[in-house]
Amino acid sequence: MKTFLILGAGTAGTLMAHTMTKKLDPHDWQVIVVDRDEKHYYQAGYIFIPFGMYKPESVIKDKKSFLPKKVKVIWSDIHMIEPDKNQVTLVRDKQVIHYDELVVATGVDIRPDQTEGMLGGGWQKNIFDFYTFDGSVKLAQALKDFKGGNLVINVTEMPVKCPVAPLEFVFLADWYLRKRGLRAKTELIYSTPLPDAFTKPSANAKLSDMFRKRDIHLEAEYAIGSVDAARNMISSYDGREIAYDLLVTVPTNMGIEAIERSGIGDDLNYIQVDKGTLQSRRWPNVWAVGDTNNILASKAGSVAHFQHEVVAKNILDHIAGKSLEEQFDGHSLCFIESGYGKAVLIDFNYDQEPVEGTYPLPGLGPFRLLNETYLNHWGKLVFKEMYWAMMYGIKVPLPSKMSTAGKKISSHNRQGEAA
Ligand SMILES: Cc1cc2nc3c(=O)[nH]c(=O)nc-3n(C[C@H](O)[C@H](O)[C@H](O)COP(=O)(O)OP(=O)(O)OC[C@H]3O[C@@H](n4cnc5c(N)ncnc54)[C@H](O)[C@@H]3O)c2cc1C
Repeated sequence: MKTFLILGAGTAGTLMAHTMTKKLDPHDWQVIVVDRDEKHYYQAGYIFIPFGMYKPESVIKDKKSFLPKKVKVIWSDIHMIEPDKNQVTLVRDKQVIHYDELVVATGVDIRPDQTEGMLGGGWQKNIFDFYTFDGSVKLAQALKDFKGGNLVINVTEMPVKCPVAPLEFVFLADWYLRKRGLRAKTELIYSTPLPDAFTKPSANAKLSDMFRKRDIHLEAEYAIGSVDAARNMISSYDGREIAYDLLVTVPTNMGIEAIERSGIGDDLNYIQVDKGTLQSRRWPNVWAVGDTNNILASKAGSVAHFQHEVVAKNILDHIAGKSLEEQFDGHSLCFIESGYGKAVLIDFNYDQEPVEGTYPLPGLGPFRLLNETYLNHWGKLVFKEMYWAMMYGIKVPLPSKMSTAGKKISSHNRQGEAA
């Protein structure tokens, strides 16, 4: 019996478990999934919790309720991954698992410890994150208590998962504070290491215009160096200080420590894979899917979904001794919640930046690309139900390759790489 080992049962790991249990012959293969947490969190819901739009409990389900019955699940932290020996050692009972094929889908962790002073006196007093369940719940209370002043949203460094989530936060904060009559008393400041609000020129033009209209101050090329909790001040490496009353941080995102301990990742503990096949550059029977790989595509649930289809086909070819045919095109599909009951939708890949148009039906939509609409907002809300359906193993009609149909494409909006 051969072993197909999946590390991580989040978005990517769960999708892989469903697909591979259907594709692999159960007489030849046992699928094992390892995860340290029995709860599954719908992380896209974290953006709504601070503004009271989602109840915290609505984003959690038991992983057991949707992992396929044929899978052997082991609840444990991972200690060591040793691809040269084809083995993984768990923390629980120091159990060693030998594998024939390995999928790493352990996502990323936030690392506020990587910024000097971040975890000092202000952490979870007037400094909060919304990239964790705990952080988003505590931030909801802090926003309720907020009376006005400087509200600073800081992105520490790129890449971060869901790179549009910090933008969504600032737009929702603007809307929320207006509703509460606090906007005139609040300076909203968005500081980012990027040269602008976003990386792609056309999306950036749209988003920068939204910043201007909402009176959101953009502090660009801001590489935070330290936090001085005693003075409520952040400083950048080039000496710019920003005072905050409430600091909302998107800390450094890194792959898990077991990857670092095992010496198998890059500087941020991401696994280096081929950007098309998603196969490890060093070990042909190792694959990294979702946030934990190092490719220049967005780290997002939709992207994990698109990637998993490509990886599943490539693994089957690899097992059959064939050359790998499937290529991931960098496809990303993201709703950007923008407050006031609206959202923007962007759809892009390695070669094509976001453009205007309709999705999914050319000319009909109903979603409008690169425009703020009420329907896009409803699409974002409905996506939650689609997400849970996918976790239960139900196929949804979201093709992994980006379609150009319905998009206003010109030679000016093609590009080299997705970010
Ligand atoms: C605030 C926020 C908003 C977002 N909004 C969107 C959105 O609107 N649309 C979108 O598409 N995406 C969004 N995302 C991103 C999306 O949630 C992730 O990209 C997606 O979950 C990645 O899937 P993954 O499987 O790679 O990682 P995860 O889903 O994070 O899964 C990783 C799994 O590995 C397990 N694990 C980690 N470390 C260990 C260990 N040491 N031992 C054992 N198990 C371990 C974890 O318990 C977890 O189950 C958002 C994320 C955040 C934080």
